[in-house]
Amino acid sequence: VPHLHDQDPEIAGLVEAEARRQYEKLRLIASENYVSPAVLEATGSVLTNKYSEGYAGKRYYEGQQNVDPIELLAIRRAKEVFGAEHANVQPYSGAPANLAVYMAFLEPGDPVMGLSLPMGGHLTHGWSVSATGRWFRPVRYDVRADTGRVDMDQVRDLALRERPKLIWCGGTAIPRTIDFPAFAEIAREAGAVLAADVAHIAGLIAGGAHPSPIGHADVVTTTTHKTLRGPRGAMILSTAEHAKAIDRAVFPGLQGGPHDHTTAAIAVALKEAARPDFSRYARQIVANAKVLAAALTDRGYDLVTGGTDNHLILIDLTNKGVAGKPAAQALDRAGIELNYNAVPFDPRKPFDPSGLRIGTAAITTRGLCEEWMPQVAAWIDEVVQAAARQEEAVVERVAGQIRELLASYPMPGWAPAPE
Ligand code: PLP
Repeated sequence: VPHLHDQDPEIAGLVEAEARRQYEKLRLIASENYVSPAVLEATGSVLTNKYSEGYAGKRYYEGQQNVDPIELLAIRRAKEVFGAEHANVQPYSGAPANLAVYMAFLEPGDPVMGLSLPMGGHLTHGWSVSATGRWFRPVRYDVRADTGRVDMDQVRDLALRERPKLIWCGGTAIPRTIDFPAFAEIAREAGAVLAADVAHIAGLIAGGAHPSPIGHADVVTTTTHKTLRGPRGAMILSTAEHAKAIDRAVFPGLQGGPHDHTTAAIAVALKEAARPDFSRYARQIVANAKVLAAALTDRGYDLVTGGTDNHLILIDLTNKGVAGKPAAQALDRAGIELNYNAVPFDPRKPFDPSGLRIGTAAITTRGLCEEWMPQVAAWIDEVVQAAARQEEAVVERVAGQIRELLASYPMPGWAPAPE
């Protein structure tokens, strides 16, 4: 990036170092990915110079000759990819998209029901430290202690007793298929709006590797940067009935001008997601996660729910004699990037919990397929065992092996300079 390098070598150097870090690491953070060069280019385009408060044809600024068609294309593609009646592509990110759902349907103090954070839910589904838990009355459902899966009987009982105005399904650490029809039936019975937050699995839904909430949920929110492999942003999909309420909630309810460079990049990502190779990609993500989960189980790892249906694996390390945080830190030093995570009914503190969360979206983009997953499990195992014994020697060897492997799997948008 010559301009950046000349203008600001400090930042340019750090960006370059980050590119190399992403190139050399086995990136297993379940919410991350590598976007295509086309998505990167749109994100870094001159659209960042533009203001366009409002919606196409109804803007508060002039000069929308190019922005309007961009936003309309993004909306059309979002509706086509997901089969939705309405799409709003302006939310700045996942948390503001979720807040817009509250703005559209609730008044302060109204009851909202969501999966509790330590069980895999998201902060914005009514957790106490979030505005959504402070400004609304949260009702939390859990997973079952024996299966690790959402307890649908509890969801129904709570919904009928507490009569939430809004029910969230979906979350940040759910390794299993979400039963949208069952949630929809409960929401109907309870007279609640059903919102599906599919941030994690949007790419799987687009690629046909996870059932869709469309036709079941009243509103669907998603980030665009996880399995969907777009820029950092979000979308809200809904039935035509709720279109006006959603649009008004996003602007002028919560936001000012949309990030037009992001809108363009979302449109590009959605065009990519409509191609047959994206469907192959989505299925490969799940295939990789299933083989990795089986290989970890073979090595004695205790997986929440016993496995996975999607891109995500949640390991409970309790039987391995090491906590999530030191294990995650050792794995990072060994070139395996993931995050420590609470497991359901975790006796440890949120900042030092018992689990690790793994996702296969980014390594699948790099081109790794099932044949490598037993090796990935073996590396994880070696490093976790070394972390339990506080041994560092293994860490450096594994980091070298991973660098060597990844040199054969190109990173979209960046390559090391030839030696
Ligand atoms: N919803 C879910 C299920 C998520 O996993 C996340 C991100 O972690 C969000 C919402 C929030 O997205 P953002 O970080 O873009 O605000």
